[in-house]
Amino acid sequence: MTIESNHTSKTIVKRPVIIVGGRGAVVWDPQGKEYIDCIGGHGVCNVGHCHPKVIEAIEKQVRRLIHIPDSLYNDARATFLQKLIGITPGELTSVFLTNSGTESVECALKIARRYTGKHGIIATIRGFHGRTLGSLSATWKPEYRKPFEPLVPGFTHVKFGDVGSIEEVISEDTAAVIIEPVQGEGGVHIAPNGYLKGVREICDDHGILLIFDEIQTGFGRTGKMFALEHWGIVPDILCLAKGIAGGFPMGATVAKEEVMDSLRPLEHGNTFGGNPLACAAATASIDAIIEEKLAERAAKLGRKLLRDLSTLQKEHELIREVRGLGLMIGVELRVPVKDAVRSATERGLLVLSAGLNVIRLLPPLVITENQLDRAITILGECIEMLESERRPG
Ligand SMILES: *Cc1c(COP(=O)(O)O)cnc(C)c1O
Repeated sequence: MTIESNHTSKTIVKRPVIIVGGRGAVVWDPQGKEYIDCIGGHGVCNVGHCHPKVIEAIEKQVRRLIHIPDSLYNDARATFLQKLIGITPGELTSVFLTNSGTESVECALKIARRYTGKHGIIATIRGFHGRTLGSLSATWKPEYRKPFEPLVPGFTHVKFGDVGSIEEVISEDTAAVIIEPVQGEGGVHIAPNGYLKGVREICDDHGILLIFDEIQTGFGRTGKMFALEHWGIVPDILCLAKGIAGGFPMGATVAKEEVMDSLRPLEHGNTFGGNPLACAAATASIDAIIEEKLAERAAKLGRKLLRDLSTLQKEHELIREVRGLGLMIGVELRVPVKDAVRSATERGLLVLSAGLNVIRLLPPLVITENQLDRAITILGECIEMLESERRPG
């Protein structure tokens, strides 16, 4: 801990826990103390920690070839691309491979400018799209943006869930609208019915591109392979990362061919994109999601979790609202959640916060019902603790 603390940027806020191993939805420290992991690598570990298929695929690939740039053809990459476009909606068939979420967004923003010849981007209040300067310009949170202004010009933020507010700000310069179907970092807010359809129609009417950021919602998280399937709306560009490769760093920007092809040779590129090891891990991970029906599992367990949390809400005045889709769950409290998150950690449950007041749960989709029950019990204890601290006397 001392070494890491002394030599890590202070921008990374750490918990006093060392994790050395994990399987499924459980991780453990050097003493063997176990934690139920409802952080899930911030929505990365959808197939669980150290999924046997992913391990096997990485082991096999690591002996054959670790890296070859995407300027040369590779079998592991071709296999992965075939797999990926097999699960994305019909017209989304052209892929640019990246190494992280923010890179997938950067690529989408460049495509939007190139395809339309315009530079305006409409994003949403509470939206999160990454932290590099382009994607940060799409991210809403003032605390993340302010210290680094001026950002990229041309970004406007409108109310999430409100079609009319998009119509109001569209101009001659608008290139694209970027939206998370379920806002993650912003506190788990689900697109209201009719919203995405309305946005799609506005974009079509005005010749504007629609970008879905499914970096957090993709790969089974919300109970469908991609969250867009809940509404049946297909964007022009889809940004992916997080759960794509079973924990291996990877991302992808997937677009309609005509849209992707607006990028001319050498106008965009990266060094590590399409790395064969990442591709092998991703193929195995997608196979696991399909074969083990993890999206369906997320839907079923998500419903159970919402039910159990609603019961908890009836017992605890402090819980303002419980919401979620699949295994992407937010528990909004009437008070800051910091102490509850810390107390949960001490009791063997890892959870995230989203903003000041929301506890966010992003467990691996392989989590068992017993583990979820245990998680609920611990959450209940933590909230009980907050309440008893607030009682006078
Ligand atoms: C995490 C996240 C990103 C950024 O991904 P990084 O890999 O951290 O760069 C972008 N958009 C959404 C919706 C995310 O959840």
